[in-house]
Amino acid sequence: MNKPKVAIFDFAGCEGCQLQIVNMEEEILDLISIVRLVEWREGMSEQSEEYDVAIVEGSITRPQDEEKLRQIRGRAKILVALGACATDGGVNKMKNRFDLQEVKQVVYGADSALPHLDSAPTKAVDEVVPVDYKIYGCPIDRREFAYVVRSLVMGKRPEIPNYPVCVECKRKENVCRYEYQEICLGPITRAGCDARCPSFGTWCFGCRGSVDESNVQAAREVMERYGKNVEDLEDRMLLFSNK
Ligand code: SF4
Ligand code: SF4
Ligand code: SF4
Repeated sequence: MNKPKVAIFDFAGCEGCQLQIVNMEEEILDLISIVRLVEWREGMSEQSEEYDVAIVEGSITRPQDEEKLRQIRGRAKILVALGACATDGGVNKMKNRFDLQEVKQVVYGADSALPHLDSAPTKAVDEVVPVDYKIYGCPIDRREFAYVVRSLVMGKRPEIPNYPVCVECKRKENVCRYEYQEICLGPITRAGCDARCPSFGTWCFGCRGSVDESNVQAAREVMERYGKNVEDLEDRMLLFSNK
């Protein structure tokens, strides 16, 4: 079998999505047996400029990152964005709502003028280069990662859910968080995590991003039914839905 060469790269992020891969334990051995891993800073010391599939974690927050990402895209036949930072900009995009100089000053203080701390508005990977597939979530779901890798090896297009978390939540017969007077982003957030947060007793905070055509009117009606307003919903969206 001609195994596809896979390389994993990271930009700005907490590396929690890569940690999810590391934590796959035995299953990662199965995956490694069907691909040839040629570069992965977090897991090996080898490097390579030849790969079929590039898996990219993290968002793009510095001008020099864009050039590196374009090189990766130029070498890879398939590029997969890994995790919310890569697919949507993630929590890093919160800085886009503020003046960048002010952000640098707050974070780095007297060192904020150092050249290697150059900073630009945060971009998701597909705001710089074309992306073939996205693995959503903060962090990603390990089962979904394994499914996407297996699909690509078999030459199949992975099917990523494009319906709301509420669908999975209802399937699991959870009591809706709105019944507890909480605000939950499940009605407008992409499913695929098996309604992880409501199943563990908390609201969905939207880490998988919005479904492509979210039913905003239905979400509005839910808010009204439970005596909430749209501003409450928008406040909750500030964590993962910044432009
Ligand atoms: S998506 Fe979340 S877990 Fe993954 S790298 Fe970004 S911040 Fe970390
Ligand atoms: S709003 Fe939240 S808690 Fe309620 S059904 Fe949807 S995902 Fe579940
Ligand atoms: S329930 Fe919402 S916040 Fe929790 S993992 Fe799923 S998409 Fe992310």
